[in-house]
Amino acid sequence: MTLPDDILTRVADRVGTPAFVYDAVELRHGVARLKFVLPDVDFFYSLKANPNVSVVRTLTSQGIGAEVCSLFEIEACLAAGVAPERIIFVGPAKSQQEIELAISLGLKAIVAESLPELKLIDTVAARKGVCQRVALRINPSFHTPGARLSMSGKATQFGIDETEIEAAIALIAEADSLRLSGLHVYMGTRILDYQVIVENSRDILALARRVTEISGEILDFVDIGGGFGVAHGDHEADLDLERLGEVLAPVLRAAKQDAPQTSIAIELGRYMVARAGSFLARVRYTKISKGKRFAILDGGSNCHSAAGQAASFRRNFPISLVGAKTGGEEPWSLAGPLCTPTDVIAHDLKIQNLEARDLIRVDRSGAYGPTASPVNFLSFGMPIEVMVDGTEMVVIRERLDLAGYLGPQVPRPLERDEDRHQLEEIA
Ligand SMILES: *Cc1c(COP(=O)(O)O)cnc(C)c1O
Repeated sequence: MTLPDDILTRVADRVGTPAFVYDAVELRHGVARLKFVLPDVDFFYSLKANPNVSVVRTLTSQGIGAEVCSLFEIEACLAAGVAPERIIFVGPAKSQQEIELAISLGLKAIVAESLPELKLIDTVAARKGVCQRVALRINPSFHTPGARLSMSGKATQFGIDETEIEAAIALIAEADSLRLSGLHVYMGTRILDYQVIVENSRDILALARRVTEISGEILDFVDIGGGFGVAHGDHEADLDLERLGEVLAPVLRAAKQDAPQTSIAIELGRYMVARAGSFLARVRYTKISKGKRFAILDGGSNCHSAAGQAASFRRNFPISLVGAKTGGEEPWSLAGPLCTPTDVIAHDLKIQNLEARDLIRVDRSGAYGPTASPVNFLSFGMPIEVMVDGTEMVVIRERLDLAGYLGPQVPRPLERDEDRHQLEEIA
């Protein structure tokens, strides 16, 4: 289900374009469906996919947790009303400042991605006089054949190699201020085949049994990753969530029997937000260049880089005209405002004759939109974001204004107090 054209027309008429519009009903529905199909799973929303505070609030108000990777993502969760004990903190380059905040807040776990990071967490926790829960992010030696995996089973900056598990567990056992509370594995993204997810989960749960044996610790949770994909075009099919639920259920049940106190977590970004968002842009000019029709939009890959990226993605995103029009379809290329030839979000799209002021919608765009696009390129800045909840429409992020653009660029002398904390980190 996507938002109807008349709603999008109203949003564009009131707040202008380019804009991202999210459907709160669809966001909540998506979470409800996940919980229904996989009732034994503790779900976490990966803010990376869309960190807008109102999006986070809409999702987590349904009882799910959050997975964050930066200081501001932690703050976004707090602003959205997420309880600290429902937040896990992942990322290969956590700063001391971030670790201090995570420890002070009492997050569910800090997911450690290296041995030096474990040592730093121990040092900071010791100074605060607390015992910190840590989960190990493991880069497993296995990988699932035939799957489109990108994040494990090979050399990577993420996680601790499976061959170093013993060393990591020994480090935690010897540390005064650490407790091993979880295991985390993230296999990759855009997985559309439920069998791949089931195979991954089996392997990860076996790894969790090994960690329990070696450490003698009962884990609070095993995070079996996520990365569920969303189809973008005719050549792809959506993940069969019902089938996944059926096939995964006995696997999870067996794990639960083995370790009744260990919850099973899945963290999802794209799958929770992609289908609930539409990108809106308006045609400014049309032109014909050497026989090819171009519509120049007020927003393109600067707001929605995924749509303008690879050839596969170009075909992928569902793009259509908002509102009915008569007349036959013609091939049109849709370009954005950037002064670079790559700013084309659709090549030869069959669409009814376009003219200035026509409104274009790009659906399935709720994930990796504004914050994963070069919004500052050519200084266009963040687009506006709107949440639609039934009959209610709320602006949930203002577009960049002049004060926000020029304000941080006012020169100032170095060596003010704000600069100093960077220097005070312990070695
Ligand atoms: C990117 C990422 C996610 C979210 O991935 P999706 O494909 O959007 O679900 C989750 N966990 C980790 C560790 C990630 O790096």
